[in-house]
Amino acid sequence: MAIATAEDVLTALKSVKEGARGEDVVALGLIQGLVVKDGHVSFAVEVAPEEGRTKEPLRIACEKAVLAAPGVRSVTAVLTAHRHGGPQPRRAGLNAQMRAEGTPQAGPRAQGPEGVGAVIAVASGKGGVGKSTIAVNLAIALRGLGKRVGLLDADIYGPSVPRMLGLKGKPVSKDGKKLEPMDAWGLKAISIGFMVEEDQPMIWRGPMVMTAITQLLNDVAWAPLDVLVVDMPPGTGDAQLTLAQRVSLAGAVIVSTPQDIALIDARKALAMFKTTQVPVLGIVENMSTFVCPHCGRESHIFGHGGARETAAKLGCDFLGEIPLHIAIRETSDGGTPITARDPQSSQAKAFVAVAEKILAKLEAGDGRTAPRIVME
Ligand code: ADP
Repeated sequence: MAIATAEDVLTALKSVKEGARGEDVVALGLIQGLVVKDGHVSFAVEVAPEEGRTKEPLRIACEKAVLAAPGVRSVTAVLTAHRHGGPQPRRAGLNAQMRAEGTPQAGPRAQGPEGVGAVIAVASGKGGVGKSTIAVNLAIALRGLGKRVGLLDADIYGPSVPRMLGLKGKPVSKDGKKLEPMDAWGLKAISIGFMVEEDQPMIWRGPMVMTAITQLLNDVAWAPLDVLVVDMPPGTGDAQLTLAQRVSLAGAVIVSTPQDIALIDARKALAMFKTTQVPVLGIVENMSTFVCPHCGRESHIFGHGGARETAAKLGCDFLGEIPLHIAIRETSDGGTPITARDPQSSQAKAFVAVAEKILAKLEAGDGRTAPRIVME
């Protein structure tokens, strides 16, 4: 059977009528952030905040209509509500929809769980580019800049934060309601790895990921925090998209290595955040320059400067370069990240420089603000 296209999905959605005049949900501009990949479909149904809960039947109707379309394997539909303004009717049709997707709209800055100043996502288009290494060291660097920082490891494919922070044991609950985050290097930390057995293969589907992440966000005693860093699962599939749509992110940091092949994936990650209207704080180039620990000579194993060029081309900020250095690998894999172990080293300072830029952007409120997404 042919795999469904975005056009097929929109055609199916046009059968869902809404409101007194019986217009379809596509014509009304209620469908947002549509992503169709290998027959897996996700989108948001935008409703006015005061309608919130009452629109659940509409969400179900949309989901059913799409699921019935040929070539659709799975559907994740979420209700979203703009706190200010509500949905704006847009022109019907695929082109209008696509234009709408890439256009961040003005609104208040997204907020995290109660008592948390800002939630930022560290993301990458694919695995192995050093996303977790960056997330961990950025969190510690932000802590070093005087902020109260938490780290949520949401990398369902390979939760590595416990290992990188040297965390042992499992988190406990003092009051039987909220889980206490673990303490490491001045951070409050929780990993999705604590919820699954190590070495046990686990297939996560979008809704399962969301349940787990929602719990880790809301049922953990995070407060008070200035920044919560989320180590996202790598890639731009269902799980990532749902996460980006449902978690109130203040911004996203995209990690890439300099070579073309990784940058293509980084572009996909960038597009995903634009689709979900999460402001991209910028791109970090990891494994940028290799300085030989013996002779001190620089080489560019994966090339150099590719992420800076990509950022410029795509109109997003470049946040800095992290060198490829054995001390970074040894310290993060050994549970004593370089930013904690040797904050005066040039490698740690590279992380601090990125953290300073991120902080400046968060504190400035950044021009590209995201609408608050309300979870129902
Ligand atoms: P990801 O989260 O993208 O899958 P990781 O952060 O787990 O990637 O990094 C993969 C491996 O690369 C780890 O062993 C890590 O220590 C190493 N690594 C990451 N960044 C660097 C760097 N800048 N220099 C040296 N090793 C690095």
